[in-house]
Amino acid sequence: MTVMMLKQLLDIIVCPVAACRKPLTLAADEGSLQCTGCRRIYPVQDGIPVLLEDKATMPQA
Ligand SMILES: [Zn+2]
Repeated sequence: MTVMMLKQLLDIIVCPVAACRKPLTLAADEGSLQCTGCRRIYPVQDGIPVLLEDKATMPQA
């Protein structure tokens, strides 16, 4: 998974949290995805974004 591929995915995927559903953006480390709404960070494992609410982490405050 390259950064370019991740950016293409960002055009089609949204936050899985039912109350959110906002677009995701590339996180600062370029290895995970961050929601533009609730700010959850979703991991990318083996090139596959893990869009599960219980796998997400909140950014350090
Ligand atoms: Zn969200």
